Amino acid sequence: MPMEESLKILQGLYEKGYVTYPRTNSEYLAEAEKDKIKMILDGVKKLGYPVEFKTGKNIFDDSKIEAHSALTPTYKIPQKDALSGDEKKVYGAVMRRFVAVFCSEECEVQKQEIKIAVGDLEEFTLKGTVILKAGWTKFDDYTKKDKLLPDLDKGDKVNIDFKPQEKETTPPKHYTIETLNNYLKNPFREDKQNIETEDDAEEYRAVFEGLELGTEATRTGIIDNAIKSGYISLKKDVYSILSGGEFLIESLKRMNISMDKYKTSEFGKALKKVYHGEMAIGESVKLAEDEIKRVFENREKDKDDGFVGDIVGKCPLCKKDVARTRFGYSCTGYRDGCKFSVNNVILGRTISMENMEKLLKTGESDIIDGFISKHTGKEFSAKLKLENGKTVFDFN
Ligand SMILES: [Zn+2]
Repeated sequence: MPMEESLKILQGLYEKGYVTYPRTNSEYLAEAEKDKIKMILDGVKKLGYPVEFKTGKNIFDDSKIEAHSALTPTYKIPQKDALSGDEKKVYGAVMRRFVAVFCSEECEVQKQEIKIAVGDLEEFTLKGTVILKAGWTKFDDYTKKDKLLPDLDKGDKVNIDFKPQEKETTPPKHYTIETLNNYLKNPFREDKQNIETEDDAEEYRAVFEGLELGTEATRTGIIDNAIKSGYISLKKDVYSILSGGEFLIESLKRMNISMDKYKTSEFGKALKKVYHGEMAIGESVKLAEDEIKRVFENREKDKDDGFVGDIVGKCPLCKKDVARTRFGYSCTGYRDGCKFSVNNVILGRTISMENMEKLLKTGESDIIDGFISKHTGKEFSAKLKLENGKTVFDFN
């Protein structure tokens, strides 16, 4: 189910009083909510779920809550036929997680190492966890780092299909609804989305500092807008970029507008400082203003200007005039066979008339930022230099 849709359903469930406020960024409950949770648990128990009240820093932790605590069911439990099919799915997910957290049945696991011998030829070792008693895992997926192994006894024979496997390196996977959400939530965390770390204090610190892209409340809208604008598509839970999205990224690069995670989270951090009273609103607005000003200043001094026919200097090969054309700058002696010309966009970067005039006059341009390497995709800066009538990069 797309996030936009599940959030909409959650909002409906919240308005009917069945779940708590859905736009939260915490998986923890507030310490002041213990009595309320006891009441909810009483109701859940009557439904037949094995739950009991538990307390502990892994459940109740004020330091990991910013404005709203974790999403839970409320003591108002819907009648059997009160919910639509999709509502049942979403409500069920919230309920199952709640039951898993307060499950009264122990989940027993055992670390196990399994050695499988293939005759005398080879021995394989599998390390992982065996679930002995299901406990809470009946209600929620077992998401710890360890591999789950089947429960085997010594001497058990296993049927294993060994096959040689040919593998190739694969490009990074497309983002799914879940992995994109995890990435936006914590873009600076290494690829750990499927690993539940035991200590998530660091993660919460990062989120509360604003080191996230968008917020829990705005992200689904941002993604939905990107879909509606034709930048990305969503099919079967997988996002793909569309040509409109590629064009947007190329255009931003060409205009020297940085929207990478470093730049974006700078503003996110400023907003969080305002929220915590550590920065005045005016200051954060000024930050954004300065950034926008910088974008336009760069455009002003280095823009794709001039008109077709404008003369920018003398040809280094035949000394005739070099003129602005639709695609760049070309020698007016082309009818006599002179082939001197320079594109007005080189590796994604516009070459302004000012730089072109300088190049023809002195043999080199100013240092130009924002060329994008075709091989690495990274930005680099260089001067343009004339060498035997050809334009080349000068990295000194
Ligand atoms: Zn020429």
